[in-house]
Amino acid sequence: MKPSDVKVNEKVEVVQKEEKPVAEKISIGELHLSGCTGCLVTLADNYEGLFKLLDDYADLVYALTLVDVRHVPEMDVCLVEGSCCLNDKLSVEELKEARAKSKVLVAYGACAAYGNITRFCRGGQWNQPGHEAFVPISEVVDVDLYIPSCPPCPQQVRNVAVMAYLLLKGNDEQKSLATAYLTPLMQLAQRGNEACGCDLMYDVINQSLCMGCGTCAGTCPVRAITMEYGKPNVNRDQCIKCGACYAQCPRSWFNFDVMNNYEGIMGAIKGAMQ
Ligand code: SF4
Ligand code: SF4
Repeated sequence: MKPSDVKVNEKVEVVQKEEKPVAEKISIGELHLSGCTGCLVTLADNYEGLFKLLDDYADLVYALTLVDVRHVPEMDVCLVEGSCCLNDKLSVEELKEARAKSKVLVAYGACAAYGNITRFCRGGQWNQPGHEAFVPISEVVDVDLYIPSCPPCPQQVRNVAVMAYLLLKGNDEQKSLATAYLTPLMQLAQRGNEACGCDLMYDVINQSLCMGCGTCAGTCPVRAITMEYGKPNVNRDQCIKCGACYAQCPRSWFNFDVMNNYEGIMGAIKGAMQ
């Protein structure tokens, strides 16, 4: 049988969805710098949650992988993926333009926040041997919040998008809930742009804060951490400097206001996604 012989009897019913006015939504864009697109894949890994987000809460106004918009537009939230190559003029200009045109600029993923694997770039490779300086985006522009890890967690970028919507379009109660959720991620951005497994040594163990829970070892994407005698031991040659272990450690930066508000926050997100 040839494809042209196949008879299609079923009529496809076209369901017309009610279009919501754009003004009700926030606008989100993704600026892709020196990244691997894994962070964008993470956003897509929300599956129907992403459709819900785009149906009801956010218009995706910029993302070269998905949207045919060539120049950086005005955005409520700009997710920046990848570090910034200082030897690439266009990257630096686009990052500065995105900062100027965004209400909230997010370092989305470990490369944008901490440099991650691009911290090891030394240049010398064809066909751009002079491209050697890859830095976290906060070396170039002010960053409002971090979504850490390599890759980040799908639920976290979804939560940030919903909370940004509540912050910009919600009532007073929703605004304060969104602020409670987003503040620790802003504090993480203020903490700095260097990350390494050594953070566990300096800022947790050496402060007598480690309780040996093993979350750091479970979090590390390259299995650079083993638990020895109840404490983490980091193989520094294996560490790719993503910052996930410190961000996930329950004795690091995380804010008790958010922990205590967990049920309210998750209830709001669950309600928003239904
Ligand atoms: S996650 Fe934090 S508290 Fe838990 S073992 Fe690792 S360093 Fe210690
Ligand atoms: S030890 Fe693992 S989780 Fe921590 S910064 Fe290094 S690669 Fe990331």
